[in-house]
Amino acid sequence: MRIFEQVESQVRGYVRSFPAIFDRAEGALLFDEHGNRYIDFFAGAGTLNYGHNHPLITEAMIEYLKGNSIIHGLDMATSAKRDFLQTFVNTILEPRNMEYKVQFTGPTGTNAVETAIKLARMVKQRSNILTFTNGYHGLTMGSLSVTGNSFYRDESYGVRANTDFMPFDGYLGEGVNTIDYIRKVLSDASSGIDLPAAVIVETIQGEGGINVASAEWLQELEKLCRDFDILLIIDDIQMGNGRTGSFFSFEESGIRPDMITLSKSLGGGLPMSILLMRPELDQWQPGEHTGTFRGNNLAFVAATQALKMWEDDSLTKQVLQYGEVVKAAMEDIVAEHPDLNLSIRGRGMAWGLDFGAPDLASKISAIAFEKGLIIETAGADSSILKFLAPLVIDPDLLNEGLEIIKESVREFTK
Ligand code: PMP
Repeated sequence: MRIFEQVESQVRGYVRSFPAIFDRAEGALLFDEHGNRYIDFFAGAGTLNYGHNHPLITEAMIEYLKGNSIIHGLDMATSAKRDFLQTFVNTILEPRNMEYKVQFTGPTGTNAVETAIKLARMVKQRSNILTFTNGYHGLTMGSLSVTGNSFYRDESYGVRANTDFMPFDGYLGEGVNTIDYIRKVLSDASSGIDLPAAVIVETIQGEGGINVASAEWLQELEKLCRDFDILLIIDDIQMGNGRTGSFFSFEESGIRPDMITLSKSLGGGLPMSILLMRPELDQWQPGEHTGTFRGNNLAFVAATQALKMWEDDSLTKQVLQYGEVVKAAMEDIVAEHPDLNLSIRGRGMAWGLDFGAPDLASKISAIAFEKGLIIETAGADSSILKFLAPLVIDPDLLNEGLEIIKESVREFTK
């Protein structure tokens, strides 16, 4: 603990919730410098769907490094890049009958979002973008402009122009169809809303509190986009890569977005982001939207290995099965504490336990940390405990972690 405080006093680090210095990790476990063990239900906010140091991914990277292979290959085709693309097409796109072009957008999620917004504007020659309440798409200027949380948005950033926020599914209460509202304001000149180039949306809002859009809502949103000639961008950065059971989070709804952003777990733990676009949207000249670190070859190697886990449906089955275990545990917590007015929501291996009051979830998270569990909060006022364990977690660890949450809530209410 002393070392942690020393580090924090010397530099401004990205260390908020978990006061320890971590130095080893394996699967769904993290160990701090003193050998204390923590179960990881945070998993890099959905970056570690395959866990820490998955043996197959690590082995592939070691082999690659040992071979004097190319790490950086700006503007060059490399064997690692080709293998990634081939695997992505063969394992992910073709079996789903998806015809998309891949653009390498940079190391991190926001890079893919920036690319999607910029391309939509160029293709449609319109600047307005529709986005949603509680959405999170990143914190650089373009992605921040479509991120719906005033905590991140200072007036001085000038990110208000050319975006309009619309109510997400469920935002206006049970049974209110927010698509009808959007349709109305788009058709009505008095709303002052310019016809957008694109709509950007998460199927389940991760940072916003595990708010789940229904399949029907997504279908209606797609229809609205077609009717008004608006591009539909699905931001699958947090909920893609199998988090909901299927590789893409929108598969169950049957929609076909015009663009899809992917990052986080795509690189098997290494930084990488891509934009998938319908082929006819590939309208930039080569070099018109580029940057130096777009496609790290070691990340291609890790990603290729990770994608191979989707060659059969065993991971999908496991996610759905584990999801039921998590849901049941959360239902137990809700039933055990009627006075707290808790509620749960989620799908696959993404679940939120809503405490309905600011900062309560943060207190539970802090108690859980003391008991050896890492779990983050979400929502505009941090009122949701967000479950995002690795998809490959050992079932015993899953149950142990869920027990810690139960004990932490009990301890809190004592
Ligand atoms: N989109 C979504 C849905 C995200 O969850 C995030 C990150 N939490 C981002 C975009 C931004 O990604 P990054 O932090 O890697 O820039």
